[in-house]
Amino acid sequence: MNVFELDRTYVAGTYSRHPVQLVGGKGACLVDVDGKEYIDLGSGIAVNVFGACDEKWQAAVTAQIGKLQHASNLFYTEPCARLAEMLCGRTGMKKVFFSNSGAESNECAIKAARRWAALKWGEEVRPVIVTLKNSFHGRTLATISATGQDSFHKDFGPFLPGFVHADPATPGDLTRMVKENPCCAVMIECVQGEGGVLPLRAEFVEEIKKVVAENDVLLIVDEVQTGNGRSGALYAYMNLGLEPDIVTTAKGIGGGLPLGATMLGERAKDAFAPGTHGSTFGGNPVSCAGGLSIIARLDEELFAGVREKSAYIVRELTGAKGVKAVTGMGLMLGIECEREAKDVVADCRADGVLVLTAKTKIRLLPPLNITMQQLEKAVKVLKEALAK
Ligand SMILES: *Cc1c(COP(=O)(O)O)cnc(C)c1O
Repeated sequence: MNVFELDRTYVAGTYSRHPVQLVGGKGACLVDVDGKEYIDLGSGIAVNVFGACDEKWQAAVTAQIGKLQHASNLFYTEPCARLAEMLCGRTGMKKVFFSNSGAESNECAIKAARRWAALKWGEEVRPVIVTLKNSFHGRTLATISATGQDSFHKDFGPFLPGFVHADPATPGDLTRMVKENPCCAVMIECVQGEGGVLPLRAEFVEEIKKVVAENDVLLIVDEVQTGNGRSGALYAYMNLGLEPDIVTTAKGIGGGLPLGATMLGERAKDAFAPGTHGSTFGGNPVSCAGGLSIIARLDEELFAGVREKSAYIVRELTGAKGVKAVTGMGLMLGIECEREAKDVVADCRADGVLVLTAKTKIRLLPPLNITMQQLEKAVKVLKEALAK
């Protein structure tokens, strides 16, 4: 059997994969098993911040592999401590819990908010977390319970109690839900990624600030997809003037290795005590060494480049043939198109450009260091596919 057949026979059928077997690449260029080259506008879904085989990341990871690949969390290791220090220094958050994925970083945030409330008011007095309609927070049972999209719920009930979903499009809905429920937290994405690359409306951002300030609830911002430079700032909440109590991230932070982080601010920093939460692999020294190499290079110069490339894509696609609207922030963009998104994806792929979808839209999440030359070439192919 070839790899396609082996995978279809033996790998659980949770994915509908593209008929492409990737074997390598460099930066925003990926290569398949037949030697065909692609310009990558997906970054392994916002993971490969500096593209494939980034040399500085590789050096950091292989140096750590040569020393020690894993230690249990019963011992101290340097990359974990240094990465936590770097994240706190860059965000003003106070403590970091490390895990291995976005879903786990959100699980930790949910547990932290509930325990914060339990220490303050008693267990189960204020357990409810208000999340948003159309949100996506992960695939575990707690995080699909948090997720406000029915398509992720079907066939998996019963769900974890303690989540209600407010409609960000209805003014006052969030405020009403926070007031009517025994709440400990509000949980949001600054741009709903899986929900269709939808940024929060400015008035809704103001409603979030007000409701959190007035109701003694925590603000949890899920930066799993928007985080780590993608928005043109280190974290997208920084573009919106939000002051979260808990920030979760994963995807890009490890540069390609599994790594999740839940950052706890001043109010939430003591939510956990020894034994209340944990992870065998969380804070793995190799993943954290990779994370250090990524976060250290996310600076103002890089963010300026992200904003510039974003503006270029928006300029090229807005009003282009077959394009109804372009939404998003930084290098996280959604294109509402006249054609079926999956047909656009297939035509782009045939012409050597890899793009993603989000609901009915085309979604672009290119590596942040994609060159203007690569971007121009890819946008040309994309425009042709959109116009067909
Ligand atoms: C991808 C994503 C998750 C889940 O991350 P996993 O690493 O797949 O568990 C959670 N929240 C958001 C906003 C995401 O984009």
